[in-house]
Amino acid sequence: MNLTHPVPTSEEHIQFAHQANEEVQSTAGAAASACRIMVIDDDEFVLKVMGCMLTDLGYPNFECFDQGAAALAAIDSGVFSPEVLLLDLNMPSMDGIEVLRALGEQKYPGNLILLSGEDQATLRAAEALARAHKLRVVGAQVKPLSREQLTQLLAQHSKRADVTTARLRTRYSSEEVATAIHEGQLVNYYQPKVDAASGRVVGVETLVRWNHPTDGLVGPDQFIPIAEASGLIRELTRTVVMSALTQAKRWQDSGSQLRIAINVSMDDLSSIEFADFLISQSERLQVRPESVMLELTESQLVPNLVAVLDVLTRLRLHRFGLSIDDFGTGHSSLVQLRDLPFDELKIDRSFTHKAWKDQRLHAFFQSSVDLARMLGLSAVAEGVEDAHDLECARSAGCALCQGYFIAKPMPAESIEPWLDEWGVRSKFERFSRSVA
Ligand code: C2E
Ligand code: CA
Ligand code: CA
Repeated sequence: MNLTHPVPTSEEHIQFAHQANEEVQSTAGAAASACRIMVIDDDEFVLKVMGCMLTDLGYPNFECFDQGAAALAAIDSGVFSPEVLLLDLNMPSMDGIEVLRALGEQKYPGNLILLSGEDQATLRAAEALARAHKLRVVGAQVKPLSREQLTQLLAQHSKRADVTTARLRTRYSSEEVATAIHEGQLVNYYQPKVDAASGRVVGVETLVRWNHPTDGLVGPDQFIPIAEASGLIRELTRTVVMSALTQAKRWQDSGSQLRIAINVSMDDLSSIEFADFLISQSERLQVRPESVMLELTESQLVPNLVAVLDVLTRLRLHRFGLSIDDFGTGHSSLVQLRDLPFDELKIDRSFTHKAWKDQRLHAFFQSSVDLARMLGLSAVAEGVEDAHDLECARSAGCALCQGYFIAKPMPAESIEPWLDEWGVRSKFERFSRSVA
């Protein structure tokens, strides 16, 4: 690794441009000016250029660090909690890979942009590593970064910032999560799944959020792992299921035939009562089991395979659907697919998005679709973010699509207006035309 500039000797924390220049034309508006950005690069010159570009682009709220350790300390102590962090991989004292490791340990909740003077292959490997640390990478770019590239990367960040504000408070205690469950602070959002060929809406996926009294809307990544680790997940799932079934019944009564998908953890399925619970509640609420799909991802080791098989086989006999989620990631494996009675295979979004321009991704994507077809399962492409992704999923023969290009997750009351809008001809034509 070559450093073209000497390691700075003084002032490890360099802060620029906190007073936004009023004459600067803000291109990204209020969201941009509030956005907290951190830049870590050992090269002072690069930091200065980045500082100028950010100010120019209307992002005055940033901090620059020339050493990873100081930046990590600022995040850890809460002095500065960035929503997006631009990280140079090539640094002398603590390199970017070490910073990634530490960010993973700290459970850094914001978005990440990786920069390097090295080639694309190094960036790709670092990106995979960051994801393995459960960090959210929104872009990776070879340096030097142009103004246009920076604009695009920040746009990627804001696209992903649907549940953000609160993602940034690092950790909640299990007591806080218990309070959320018991005091009705959890709220279900729903994201449409559409037929890839016709655009017809076939169902919605339930995605829980925490309507936190002070932090705003908190995404599930911030509390599901805590619920799983502290034995609260069963209660949480029951809360989500009850409100999803109640909602499904409302849609059913108003004539919208939406299949409703609900995410469940392995731990839910290790309790034999879960099948009784689901069967009795759907009977009580008069929701047909055929219109309920459970999405399963193996985030934990299967604690009790006998119980899981018992529950899933019973649910299948009662005609509930079962989907293998995040297929292709380490968590959802061929072994699961071999042993459990799935109806649907959801291809993880890390294989869908940009598969059209990346041969390797496309190979994974296409073979997952083919595998689903050979096993008689319907394939769902997750993370369809643009018209290219949609076209790619269609031409690969994928049955269903889900992703920001179609709709973001939304509160229950927004679904019917969305369906109306989606159903109108103009919208559908746009859907078709955009990929023609
Ligand atoms: P998942 O089941 O893989 O859900 C899809 C996630 O991808 C959702 O994140 C959704 O908002 C996001 N997403 C949808 N379309 C796009 C797209 O085009 N691009 C990108 N980049 N992302 C997209 P969310 O809502 O933050 O949920 C995260 C995870 O939390 C879910 O991943 C699921 O595993 C878990 N989860 C959510 N609700 C529940 C629940 O009720 N119970 C359990 N056990 N887990 C849940
Ligand atoms: Ca899911
Ligand atoms: Ca998934």
